[in-house]
Amino acid sequence: MSDRTERSERRESVPSQRRASDRPVLSVEDLTVTVGTRRGPAHAVAGVSWQVRAGETFALVGESGSGKSMTLLAATGLAPRAATVTGRVRLLDSELTALPEDRRRQLRGRHVGFVFQDPMTSLNPVLPVGRQVTEAAEAHLGLTRRAARDRAVELLDLVGIPSAAQRVDAYPHQFSGGMRQRVVIAMALACEPDLLIADEPTTALDVTTQAQIVELVADLQRRLGTAVVWVTHDLGVVAGIADTVAVMYGGRIVEQGPVDAVFDTPTHPYTRALLAARPDPSRRGEDLVAIPGAPPSPLDLPAGCAFWPRCPVRADPRCEHELPPLTPVGDGHTVRTFYPGETP
Ligand code: ADP
Ligand code: MG
Repeated sequence: MSDRTERSERRESVPSQRRASDRPVLSVEDLTVTVGTRRGPAHAVAGVSWQVRAGETFALVGESGSGKSMTLLAATGLAPRAATVTGRVRLLDSELTALPEDRRRQLRGRHVGFVFQDPMTSLNPVLPVGRQVTEAAEAHLGLTRRAARDRAVELLDLVGIPSAAQRVDAYPHQFSGGMRQRVVIAMALACEPDLLIADEPTTALDVTTQAQIVELVADLQRRLGTAVVWVTHDLGVVAGIADTVAVMYGGRIVEQGPVDAVFDTPTHPYTRALLAARPDPSRRGEDLVAIPGAPPSPLDLPAGCAFWPRCPVRADPRCEHELPPLTPVGDGHTVRTFYPGETP
C-alpha cells in the first residue's frame, strides 16, 4: 500500500468524537533550551512552536542531536537542571511554564504517558511487569491492588502481550525487547493519558518488531483518540502514522506541515535530503544515502541557516549569515527559507 493510501485510510478511521476537538492537548510556543556546559552555553533548542490536538499524531523528525528530545523534556518540565528554558507551554488548560515543579509533576503523571528508546530505562528489573504497569495508576486513579491487577492484565492484553493473565507476574528479563516495549506502552497508557510521547521507541528494535510497535501505537491511537507526539530520526517511520510533521535541524524547526504536504512537496533542502536518505525497501543491503557533513554544534550555532554548510542548493548567499524566516508555503505548511513557493 502506498504511504498516501495508508495515510488517508488511517485518518478516516480516527474516532470522530476526539478528532473533532479543536483545543490543543499540548501547545509549545517559542521554546528555547540553553544548557550550561563547561565549554559555554549549548543552544539545544532555539525557538520552536507547535501543537498537537486530541486524536492527532505529531511527528518530530531530524538527525540525532537536532534537539527533538530536549524539546519534549523541556516542554514537560523534565529538562536537566543545567538547562534554562524560555517560552510558553500549555498542557490542556494549564500553563505548565508558570507552575511550580510539584504541580507540573502531578499534571504530567495524570495526563502524559512516556515511551523512550530503551524500555529498561522505564522498567524495574526486580518487579513483576503487572505491578509496574499500574503502579502509577493505583495512586492517580485510586485503584485497589486487586483492581490494579485486573487492569494490568487488560492493558497487557490491549498492547498484544500473549497470555496476559499468565504473564502479568513475569519479570522484564522474561520478555523480548519488543515485548518489553509493549509493556512500557501499557504502562504509559495505564493512566489513560491525553498525550503519549514516544521518543524513538523503535530505534533499538529489529525492523519487523519496529513495524509492529509502530502499528500498535497507531492502532491504540485510533481506538483511544490519544494525542501522540512521535519522535524519530527516520522519516519513513512516520509516513504511515503522522498527521503533522515538523523537521528539526540545529535546534530549530526548518519545515512543518501536514504529512502529505511535507512528503509530496518537501521544500527545505534538509527535508529533501532526509527524504532521499530514507531506506528503500527494494534496495535493502545497498549503502544508505547519507547526508554528507555533520550537524552544527549547539555550542556554536551559525547566525544564518544551520544547514548552509551542508546544503547542496545554497540558493541565496544571505542564507549563510541571515536566519531565513519560517514562511507559509501552503495550508499549514511552513518552511524556513528565503524562497517560499519556489523549488530551486
Ligand atoms: P535529539 O533528541 O534530536 O537527538 P537532543 O535533544 O538530545 O537531540 O540534543 C540536542 C542538543 O543538546 C545536542 O547537541 C546535545 O548534545 C545537547 N544536549 C543534550 N543534553 C545535554 C546536556 N545534558 N548537556 C549539554 N548538552 C546537551
Ligand atoms: Mg533524542
